[in-house]
Amino acid sequence: MESKIELAQIYRYDNLVSDLNQLAKQFPNLVELETIGTSVEGRKLLALKVGTGDVKVICHGAHHAREWMTSRLIVDFICHLVTSEAEPWKHIREEWLDRMTFWFVPMVNPDGVTLVQDGPDHFSNRDELIDLNDDSLDFSSWKANARGVDLNRQYPIDWEEIQADPGRPSSSNYKGEHPLSEPEIKSLVDFVNQHDFDCALAYHSSGEEIFWRYNLPNRFIESFRPLANQLADVTKYCLIEPEGIPSGGGFTDWFLTKFKKPSFTFEIAPYIGPRPVPYHYYDQVFYDNKQVLYTVGDFLLDNSAEWLKK
Ligand SMILES: [Zn+2]
Repeated sequence: MESKIELAQIYRYDNLVSDLNQLAKQFPNLVELETIGTSVEGRKLLALKVGTGDVKVICHGAHHAREWMTSRLIVDFICHLVTSEAEPWKHIREEWLDRMTFWFVPMVNPDGVTLVQDGPDHFSNRDELIDLNDDSLDFSSWKANARGVDLNRQYPIDWEEIQADPGRPSSSNYKGEHPLSEPEIKSLVDFVNQHDFDCALAYHSSGEEIFWRYNLPNRFIESFRPLANQLADVTKYCLIEPEGIPSGGGFTDWFLTKFKKPSFTFEIAPYIGPRPVPYHYYDQVFYDNKQVLYTVGDFLLDNSAEWLKK
């Protein structure tokens, strides 16, 4: 059965809610929809599960407001996973979903995405937001949540050491008063702690890069390296090796350190500076990333690495 879902070009929170609900309704035997928390302004943080297996992967997008193309990409992954007759989607669906579970959280920062797309008029703290945005009504470069906190600087890993923090709420880079102060990240961390994920995929934009390392003992880095190389190979994105002292506070830094399992941060699209990725890049972005879930699944299901053993 082909999905009837046509994904909106400018992918909004409303589109996410309606598309995920439609998928859950249309494919009740394949997907499960869950609300894992709510944002500062009361929007739902939606997670969708595909598969029932023991090997578990989490894939999320739009920690950063202006990076909402990553939400569209992840919902597109889900649509292909449940309906496509093309490879690699059909193989994953027909061969792996009793051995693997994918959890998708396509929009971690729904308030921020809405602010970028619609501006501040319907926000409870409209005037404060405009002030934080240097008195501009153009919010297209906003990264933070609705309280001016950068959600990818909220994780309890070397949070004290985070560099280039503005020290107060801001459109980007403010780490907050303490780790997990923001409900979006508290909810995601609680969710990840409740599941036993074997791998995490964090989607951001832009730059065609993959971040995959943090302060981990070499034996872990070397056991993750083959998968990192394969992901770089299928996406043609550049694998980033850390230089100097890493800044910390991000999801991948936290996941790697806490669980000693692989986590990858993908920066989709060619580097386009501090703004949403223009839509004309989308087909290329999808093409670059369409082997990612397959590559991860193939590696995890075949691999007998120490970190994967239960
Ligand atoms: Zn980002």
